[in-house]
Amino acid sequence: MERVYNFGAGPAVLPEEVLAEAQRELLDFKGSGMSIMEHSHRGKEYDAVHTEAVDNLRKLLDVSPDYSILFIQGGASMQFAMVPMNLLGAGASADYVNSGTWADKAVKEANLFGKVNVIANTGKEIPTRMPGNEELKFTPGAAYVHITSNETIAGAQWKVFPRTVAPLVADMSSDILSRPFEASQFGLIYAGAQKNLGPAGMAVVVIRKDLAERVSTAVPTMLKYKTHIEENSLYNTPPTFAIYILMLVTRWIIKMGRENLYRQNVEKAARIYRAIDASSFYKGTAVREFRSDMNLTFRLPSEALEEQFIKEASRQGMKGLKGHRMVGGIRASIYNAFPLAGVDALVAFMKDFESKNG
Ligand code: PMP
Repeated sequence: MERVYNFGAGPAVLPEEVLAEAQRELLDFKGSGMSIMEHSHRGKEYDAVHTEAVDNLRKLLDVSPDYSILFIQGGASMQFAMVPMNLLGAGASADYVNSGTWADKAVKEANLFGKVNVIANTGKEIPTRMPGNEELKFTPGAAYVHITSNETIAGAQWKVFPRTVAPLVADMSSDILSRPFEASQFGLIYAGAQKNLGPAGMAVVVIRKDLAERVSTAVPTMLKYKTHIEENSLYNTPPTFAIYILMLVTRWIIKMGRENLYRQNVEKAARIYRAIDASSFYKGTAVREFRSDMNLTFRLPSEALEEQFIKEASRQGMKGLKGHRMVGGIRASIYNAFPLAGVDALVAFMKDFESKNG
Protein backbone atom coordinates (compact mmCIF):
# COMPACT_ATOMS: atom_id res chain seq x y z
CA MET A 1 0.00 0.00 0.00
CA GLU A 2 1.22 3.48 -0.79
CA ARG A 3 -0.16 6.55 0.98
CA VAL A 4 -0.67 9.63 -1.19
CA TYR A 5 -0.12 13.27 -0.28
CA ASN A 6 -3.60 14.43 0.66
CA PHE A 7 -4.05 18.18 0.18
CA GLY A 8 -7.79 17.95 0.84
CA ALA A 9 -9.41 20.76 2.84
CA GLY A 10 -11.38 18.46 5.13
CA PRO A 11 -11.88 15.73 5.98
CA ALA A 12 -8.13 15.90 5.78
CA VAL A 13 -4.90 14.06 6.32
CA LEU A 14 -4.42 12.48 9.76
CA PRO A 15 -1.09 11.51 11.32
CA GLU A 16 -0.13 8.11 9.97
CA GLU A 17 0.89 6.82 13.39
CA VAL A 18 -2.56 7.71 14.73
CA LEU A 19 -4.21 5.68 11.99
CA ALA A 20 -1.83 2.78 12.63
CA GLU A 21 -2.57 2.82 16.36
CA ALA A 22 -6.32 2.93 15.73
CA GLN A 23 -5.87 -0.02 13.41
CA ARG A 24 -3.92 -1.99 16.03
CA GLU A 25 -6.62 -1.38 18.61
CA LEU A 26 -9.60 -1.66 16.31
CA LEU A 27 -10.76 -5.19 17.18
CA ASP A 28 -9.55 -5.36 20.75
CA PHE A 29 -9.24 -2.14 22.70
CA LYS A 30 -6.64 -2.58 25.44
CA GLY A 31 -7.41 -6.26 26.05
CA SER A 32 -11.11 -5.63 26.57
CA GLY A 33 -12.09 -8.02 23.78
CA MET A 34 -14.07 -5.38 21.89
CA SER A 35 -13.53 -2.28 19.83
CA ILE A 36 -13.70 1.15 21.46
CA MET A 37 -16.61 1.67 19.04
CA GLU A 38 -18.49 -1.12 20.79
CA HIS A 39 -17.93 0.10 24.33
CA SER A 40 -20.61 1.88 26.33
CA HIS A 41 -20.09 5.61 26.55
CA ARG A 42 -20.67 5.20 30.31
CA GLY A 43 -18.03 2.47 30.79
CA LYS A 44 -14.54 2.89 32.28
CA GLU A 45 -12.70 2.18 29.01
CA TYR A 46 -14.45 4.96 27.13
CA ASP A 47 -14.37 7.24 30.15
CA ALA A 48 -10.55 7.16 30.09
CA VAL A 49 -10.56 8.10 26.39
CA HIS A 50 -13.03 10.94 26.87
CA THR A 51 -11.16 12.33 29.86
CA GLU A 52 -7.83 12.25 28.06
CA ALA A 53 -9.33 13.95 24.98
CA VAL A 54 -10.61 16.84 27.11
CA ASP A 55 -7.41 17.03 29.16
CA ASN A 56 -5.18 17.05 26.08
CA LEU A 57 -7.17 19.88 24.51
CA ARG A 58 -7.12 21.81 27.77
CA LYS A 59 -3.35 21.47 27.91
CA LEU A 60 -2.77 22.32 24.23
CA LEU A 61 -5.10 25.33 24.25
CA ASP A 62 -3.90 26.35 27.69
CA VAL A 63 -7.33 27.39 28.95
CA SER A 64 -8.21 28.24 32.53
CA PRO A 65 -10.83 26.36 34.59
CA ASP A 66 -13.28 29.16 33.72
CA TYR A 67 -13.68 27.44 30.34
CA SER A 68 -15.34 24.19 29.38
CA ILE A 69 -14.27 22.04 26.46
CA LEU A 70 -17.17 20.37 24.70
CA PHE A 71 -17.78 17.86 21.90
CA ILE A 72 -21.00 18.66 20.07
CA GLN A 73 -22.41 16.93 17.00
CA GLY A 74 -23.59 18.81 13.95
CA GLY A 75 -20.18 20.16 12.95
CA ALA A 76 -19.17 23.80 12.78
CA SER A 77 -22.35 24.56 10.80
CA MET A 78 -24.46 23.76 13.84
CA GLN A 79 -22.34 26.21 15.84
CA PHE A 80 -23.36 28.96 13.40
CA ALA A 81 -26.83 28.56 14.96
CA MET A 82 -25.94 27.53 18.51
CA VAL A 83 -23.81 30.62 19.13
CA PRO A 84 -26.67 33.11 18.59
CA MET A 85 -29.25 30.76 20.15
CA ASN A 86 -27.25 30.73 23.37
CA LEU A 87 -25.48 34.07 23.46
CA LEU A 88 -27.81 36.51 21.77
CA GLY A 89 -30.52 37.39 24.26
CA ALA A 90 -33.88 38.88 23.25
CA GLY A 91 -33.50 42.39 21.84
CA ALA A 92 -29.69 42.14 21.74
CA SER A 93 -27.39 42.54 18.76
CA ALA A 94 -24.06 40.97 17.81
CA ASP A 95 -21.15 42.16 15.69
CA TYR A 96 -20.02 39.92 12.84
CA VAL A 97 -17.06 40.26 10.51
CA ASN A 98 -17.95 38.91 7.08
CA SER A 99 -14.67 37.67 5.67
CA GLY A 100 -15.90 35.08 3.19
CA THR A 101 -18.09 32.07 2.60
CA TRP A 102 -17.90 30.66 6.12
CA ALA A 103 -18.39 33.92 7.94
CA ASP A 104 -21.31 34.65 5.63
CA LYS A 105 -22.98 31.40 6.69
CA ALA A 106 -22.52 32.35 10.33
CA VAL A 107 -24.12 35.75 9.65
CA LYS A 108 -27.12 34.12 7.93
CA GLU A 109 -27.83 31.89 10.92
CA ALA A 110 -27.41 34.70 13.45
CA ASN A 111 -29.95 36.74 11.49
CA LEU A 112 -32.55 34.14 12.42
CA PHE A 113 -32.14 34.91 16.11
CA GLY A 114 -31.48 38.60 16.53
CA LYS A 115 -29.95 41.76 15.16
CA VAL A 116 -26.63 41.34 13.37
CA ASN A 117 -24.24 44.22 12.73
CA VAL A 118 -21.84 43.33 9.93
CA ILE A 119 -19.02 45.59 11.11
CA ALA A 120 -16.67 44.80 8.23
CA ASN A 121 -17.19 43.02 4.96
CA THR A 122 -14.28 41.75 2.91
CA GLY A 123 -16.18 38.63 1.92
CA LYS A 124 -16.39 39.31 -1.78
CA GLU A 125 -13.05 41.05 -2.29
CA ILE A 126 -10.45 39.60 -4.62
CA PRO A 127 -7.64 39.32 -3.74
CA THR A 128 -9.09 37.84 -0.59
CA ARG A 129 -8.23 39.24 2.82
CA MET A 130 -9.30 39.84 6.39
CA PRO A 131 -10.11 43.37 7.52
CA GLY A 132 -7.32 45.23 9.27
CA ASN A 133 -8.00 45.74 12.95
CA GLU A 134 -8.19 49.49 12.34
CA GLU A 135 -11.21 48.97 10.04
CA LEU A 136 -13.34 47.45 12.79
CA LYS A 137 -15.97 49.66 14.41
CA PHE A 138 -17.45 47.70 17.26
CA THR A 139 -21.04 48.36 18.38
CA PRO A 140 -21.26 49.46 22.00
CA GLY A 141 -23.29 46.92 23.97
CA ALA A 142 -23.05 44.14 21.37
CA ALA A 143 -23.58 40.69 22.91
CA TYR A 144 -20.45 39.35 21.24
CA VAL A 145 -18.14 39.79 18.24
CA HIS A 146 -17.85 36.92 15.76
CA ILE A 147 -14.88 36.28 13.48
CA THR A 148 -13.67 33.41 11.28
CA SER A 149 -10.01 32.92 12.09
CA ASN A 150 -9.22 31.25 8.77
CA GLU A 151 -11.36 31.33 5.64
CA THR A 152 -10.82 27.83 4.29
CA ILE A 153 -12.04 28.62 0.77
CA ALA A 154 -10.48 32.06 0.33
CA GLY A 155 -7.16 31.06 1.90
CA ALA A 156 -7.12 34.16 4.12
CA GLN A 157 -6.28 34.14 7.83
CA TRP A 158 -6.36 36.60 10.73
CA LYS A 159 -2.79 37.14 11.86
CA VAL A 160 -3.50 39.37 14.86
CA PHE A 161 -6.84 38.82 16.55
CA PRO A 162 -8.82 41.93 17.43
CA ARG A 163 -9.08 43.05 21.04
CA THR A 164 -12.74 43.43 21.93
CA VAL A 165 -14.78 44.56 24.91
CA ALA A 166 -17.65 42.18 24.07
CA PRO A 167 -16.75 38.47 24.20
CA LEU A 168 -14.87 37.42 21.07
CA VAL A 169 -16.27 34.34 19.33
CA ALA A 170 -14.18 32.60 16.69
CA ASP A 171 -14.80 29.90 14.14
CA MET A 172 -11.38 28.22 14.15
CA SER A 173 -12.43 25.20 12.11
CA SER A 174 -9.49 25.33 9.74
CA ASP A 175 -6.65 26.53 11.93
CA ILE A 176 -7.23 25.46 15.52
CA LEU A 177 -4.04 24.15 17.14
CA SER A 178 -1.98 25.17 14.13
CA ARG A 179 -0.46 28.24 15.82
CA PRO A 180 -0.23 29.86 19.23
CA PHE A 181 -2.92 32.23 20.46
CA GLU A 182 -4.17 33.47 23.76
CA ALA A 183 -7.34 31.57 24.62
CA SER A 184 -8.30 34.01 27.37
CA GLN A 185 -8.90 36.63 24.65
CA PHE A 186 -11.92 34.61 23.50
CA GLY A 187 -15.32 34.00 25.01
CA LEU A 188 -16.03 31.06 22.72
CA ILE A 189 -14.08 29.11 20.12
CA TYR A 190 -15.51 26.41 17.91
CA ALA A 191 -14.06 24.16 15.27
CA GLY A 192 -15.32 21.31 13.14
CA ALA A 193 -13.01 18.42 14.00
CA GLN A 194 -12.25 17.16 10.51
CA LYS A 195 -9.18 19.25 9.67
CA ASN A 196 -6.66 19.62 12.46
CA LEU A 197 -8.32 17.52 15.16
CA GLY A 198 -9.65 14.23 13.84
CA PRO A 199 -12.45 12.75 11.77
CA ALA A 200 -15.74 14.42 10.90
CA GLY A 201 -18.71 14.09 13.20
CA MET A 202 -18.48 16.85 15.76
CA ALA A 203 -17.29 20.29 16.66
CA VAL A 204 -15.01 21.11 19.55
CA VAL A 205 -16.33 24.07 21.54
CA VAL A 206 -14.28 25.99 24.08
CA ILE A 207 -16.59 28.24 26.05
CA ARG A 208 -16.21 30.57 29.00
CA LYS A 209 -18.75 29.04 31.35
CA ASP A 210 -20.50 32.24 32.39
CA LEU A 211 -21.57 32.87 28.76
CA ALA A 212 -23.60 29.66 28.77
CA GLU A 213 -25.83 31.15 31.47
CA ARG A 214 -27.31 33.65 29.03
CA VAL A 215 -29.44 31.04 27.30
CA SER A 216 -33.23 31.25 27.42
CA THR A 217 -35.35 28.34 28.62
CA ALA A 218 -36.98 28.13 25.17
CA VAL A 219 -33.80 26.69 23.61
CA PRO A 220 -33.99 22.88 23.19
CA THR A 221 -31.92 20.87 25.66
CA MET A 222 -29.47 19.49 23.08
CA LEU A 223 -28.80 22.96 21.70
CA LYS A 224 -27.90 24.53 25.04
CA TYR A 225 -24.19 24.78 25.86
CA LYS A 226 -25.26 24.57 29.49
CA THR A 227 -26.48 20.99 28.99
CA HIS A 228 -23.17 19.87 27.53
CA ILE A 229 -21.17 21.70 30.19
CA GLU A 230 -23.15 20.13 33.02
CA GLU A 231 -22.91 16.65 31.50
CA ASN A 232 -19.28 16.86 30.27
CA SER A 233 -20.52 16.26 26.67
CA LEU A 234 -22.18 13.04 27.83
CA TYR A 235 -25.81 14.17 28.00
CA ASN A 236 -26.53 11.70 25.21
CA THR A 237 -24.32 9.25 23.30
CA PRO A 238 -21.40 11.26 21.91
CA PRO A 239 -19.52 10.28 18.72
CA THR A 240 -17.22 7.99 20.70
CA PHE A 241 -15.02 6.84 17.84
CA ALA A 242 -14.43 10.39 16.57
CA ILE A 243 -13.51 11.47 20.11
CA TYR A 244 -11.16 8.48 20.42
CA ILE A 245 -9.33 9.51 17.24
CA LEU A 246 -9.23 13.13 18.42
CA MET A 247 -7.66 11.88 21.65
CA LEU A 248 -4.96 10.08 19.65
CA VAL A 249 -4.38 13.16 17.46
CA THR A 250 -4.04 15.49 20.45
CA ARG A 251 -1.70 12.98 22.11
CA TRP A 252 0.36 13.06 18.90
CA ILE A 253 0.47 16.88 18.94
CA ILE A 254 1.71 16.83 22.54
CA LYS A 255 4.37 14.29 21.61
CA MET A 256 5.49 16.27 18.55
CA GLY A 257 5.64 19.42 20.64
CA ARG A 258 3.13 22.16 20.00
CA GLU A 259 5.80 24.76 19.26
CA ASN A 260 7.66 22.45 16.84
CA LEU A 261 4.47 21.85 14.95
CA TYR A 262 3.73 25.59 14.79
CA ARG A 263 7.20 26.29 13.45
CA GLN A 264 6.86 23.51 10.91
CA ASN A 265 3.49 24.89 9.75
CA VAL A 266 5.06 28.29 9.07
CA GLU A 267 7.94 26.66 7.21
CA LYS A 268 5.65 24.45 5.13
CA ALA A 269 3.53 27.41 4.02
CA ALA A 270 6.59 29.58 3.35
CA ARG A 271 8.06 26.99 0.97
CA ILE A 272 4.93 26.99 -1.20
CA TYR A 273 4.45 30.78 -1.08
CA ARG A 274 8.11 31.23 -2.07
CA ALA A 275 7.50 29.04 -5.10
CA ILE A 276 4.42 31.12 -6.00
CA ASP A 277 6.24 34.43 -5.56
CA ALA A 278 9.28 33.29 -7.53
CA SER A 279 7.13 32.75 -10.61
CA SER A 280 4.83 34.85 -12.74
CA PHE A 281 3.01 31.68 -13.81
CA TYR A 282 1.41 31.14 -10.39
CA LYS A 283 -0.56 33.90 -8.65
CA GLY A 284 -1.57 33.79 -5.00
CA THR A 285 -5.22 34.76 -4.46
CA ALA A 286 -4.94 36.25 -0.96
CA VAL A 287 -3.45 39.58 0.05
CA ARG A 288 0.06 38.77 1.23
CA GLU A 289 -0.27 39.86 4.86
CA PHE A 290 -3.38 37.69 5.30
CA ARG A 291 -2.19 34.56 3.51
CA SER A 292 -3.29 31.42 5.25
CA ASP A 293 -0.71 28.93 6.50
CA MET A 294 -3.32 26.18 6.32
CA ASN A 295 -5.13 26.62 2.99
CA LEU A 296 -2.87 28.05 0.27
CA THR A 297 -4.80 29.26 -2.74
CA PHE A 298 -3.40 30.20 -6.12
CA ARG A 299 -4.25 30.42 -9.78
CA LEU A 300 -2.60 29.47 -13.05
CA PRO A 301 -2.89 31.51 -16.25
CA SER A 302 -6.00 29.61 -17.42
CA GLU A 303 -8.64 27.21 -16.14
CA ALA A 304 -7.50 24.66 -18.70
CA LEU A 305 -3.99 24.75 -17.21
CA GLU A 306 -5.43 24.46 -13.72
CA GLU A 307 -7.34 21.35 -14.72
CA GLN A 308 -4.22 19.86 -16.25
CA PHE A 309 -2.18 20.77 -13.13
CA ILE A 310 -4.67 19.00 -10.87
CA LYS A 311 -4.77 15.92 -13.10
CA GLU A 312 -1.01 15.58 -13.42
CA ALA A 313 -0.45 16.19 -9.71
CA SER A 314 -3.01 13.51 -8.94
CA ARG A 315 -1.20 11.04 -11.20
CA GLN A 316 1.93 11.74 -9.16
CA GLY A 317 0.16 10.98 -5.87
CA MET A 318 -0.78 14.55 -4.89
CA LYS A 319 -4.52 14.55 -4.29
CA GLY A 320 -7.14 17.10 -3.36
CA LEU A 321 -5.55 20.18 -4.95
CA LYS A 322 -8.71 21.39 -6.67
CA GLY A 323 -9.92 24.71 -5.30
CA HIS A 324 -13.38 24.87 -3.73
CA ARG A 325 -16.14 24.39 -6.32
CA MET A 326 -17.37 27.95 -5.73
CA VAL A 327 -14.09 29.67 -6.61
CA GLY A 328 -12.00 27.24 -8.65
CA GLY A 329 -8.22 27.57 -8.86
CA ILE A 330 -5.81 25.52 -6.79
CA ARG A 331 -5.92 25.02 -3.05
CA ALA A 332 -3.24 23.20 -1.10
CA SER A 333 -4.46 22.45 2.41
CA ILE A 334 -1.53 21.63 4.64
CA TYR A 335 -2.83 21.04 8.14
CA ASN A 336 -0.73 19.90 11.12
CA ALA A 337 -0.51 16.30 9.98
CA PHE A 338 0.54 17.17 6.42
CA PRO A 339 4.21 16.16 6.02
CA LEU A 340 7.00 18.50 4.94
CA ALA A 341 8.03 15.97 2.28
CA GLY A 342 4.61 16.46 0.65
CA VAL A 343 5.20 20.21 0.51
CA ASP A 344 8.57 19.66 -1.15
CA ALA A 345 6.98 17.27 -3.62
CA LEU A 346 4.40 19.91 -4.55
CA VAL A 347 7.03 22.63 -4.93
CA ALA A 348 9.12 20.38 -7.22
CA PHE A 349 6.01 19.54 -9.22
CA MET A 350 5.08 23.23 -9.55
CA LYS A 351 8.53 24.06 -10.95
CA ASP A 352 8.43 21.17 -13.36
CA PHE A 353 4.89 21.98 -14.50
CA GLU A 354 5.80 25.62 -15.11
CA SER A 355 8.91 24.71 -17.09
CA LYS A 356 6.78 22.49 -19.39
CA ASN A 357 3.72 24.74 -19.68
CA GLY A 358 4.85 28.24 -18.75
N1 PMP B 1 -16.25 27.00 9.13
C1 PMP B 1 -15.13 26.84 8.42
C2 PMP B 1 -14.05 27.87 8.50
C3 PMP B 1 -14.98 25.71 7.60
O1 PMP B 1 -13.88 25.55 6.88
C4 PMP B 1 -16.02 24.75 7.56
C5 PMP B 1 -15.92 23.49 6.73
N2 PMP B 1 -15.06 23.47 5.68
C6 PMP B 1 -17.17 24.98 8.30
C7 PMP B 1 -17.24 26.10 9.09
C8 PMP B 1 -18.32 24.01 8.28
O2 PMP B 1 -17.95 22.89 9.00
P1 PMP B 1 -18.87 21.60 9.12
O3 PMP B 1 -18.80 20.91 7.80
O4 PMP B 1 -18.20 20.84 10.23
O5 PMP B 1 -20.24 22.02 9.48
